[in-house]
Amino acid sequence: MKLVAYDDGRAGELRGDRVYDLGGRTIPELIADGLPTAPPGGPGVPLDRVRLRVPVPNPSKIVAAPVNYRDHQAEMSVDSQVGGLGFFLKAPSSLLDPGGTIQLPYHDRRFDQEGELALVIGRTARRVSEADALGHVFGYTGLLDITMRGGEDRSTRKSFETFTPMGPVLVTADEFGDPADVDLRCWVNGDLRQHANTRDLIWSAARLVSYASWVTTLNPGDVVTTGTPAGVGPLAAGDAVRLRLSGIGLDLAVTVRADDAVASHTAGRDRGPVPPPPPGAAR
Ligand code: MN
Repeated sequence: MKLVAYDDGRAGELRGDRVYDLGGRTIPELIADGLPTAPPGGPGVPLDRVRLRVPVPNPSKIVAAPVNYRDHQAEMSVDSQVGGLGFFLKAPSSLLDPGGTIQLPYHDRRFDQEGELALVIGRTARRVSEADALGHVFGYTGLLDITMRGGEDRSTRKSFETFTPMGPVLVTADEFGDPADVDLRCWVNGDLRQHANTRDLIWSAARLVSYASWVTTLNPGDVVTTGTPAGVGPLAAGDAVRLRLSGIGLDLAVTVRADDAVASHTAGRDRGPVPPPPPGAAR
């Protein structure tokens, strides 16, 4: 089933270009109570008449993989990757609706797009094996892990308000199939910056969920995002970012602004991992 959250946050089933109401319940409520077994009634609403929302607006945590593709490890010139770093957390308050506006907080720092495959937990996971991990997944969706470059802790650099656009479609695990063969493309202003396949993840979605469940209890509705491939690059006010994942069905599109940007409060500039030069810049 292809689920969207829309308007007041209610869940709908996406069929073609129409959205069918599922009884006024939210996606977290469907995760807790189970999906409806009867097909939705009514004529549905055209997709372009609804306001799309983030599928799970209040997860207890967003677990994120640092450096989980070798080509991204190479472009960042770092020795470390997920197998040495473990995961980091993004603040759930950084979630942003599809179609929303990323607000860059500082005028003197670099911010990059990171397109990623994310998953939503469906059943409580605590110390689950890699073989059992995907059985705890409710569904899959797209996520942009917007990131400030520099020497601050990842949880700071990636937790600013609006820094986690997510959605728009949450495809249930039974329909989505294998998360280890997902084509990922991410554009900024129409220029293709990232093109990869999740088969090249260093830690698969299954391994990441298993690992995270040995650290923390993964609750229904929690988000796990799998990391970004090569092609990260800077964002500026006026940019448009688009993420497309095979099997999801709708792109995640957001815009970028820098209203009320101020000088950075921390001194991490020109420290930390060195990001690649902007697209088109001389190396
Ligand atoms: Mn990331």
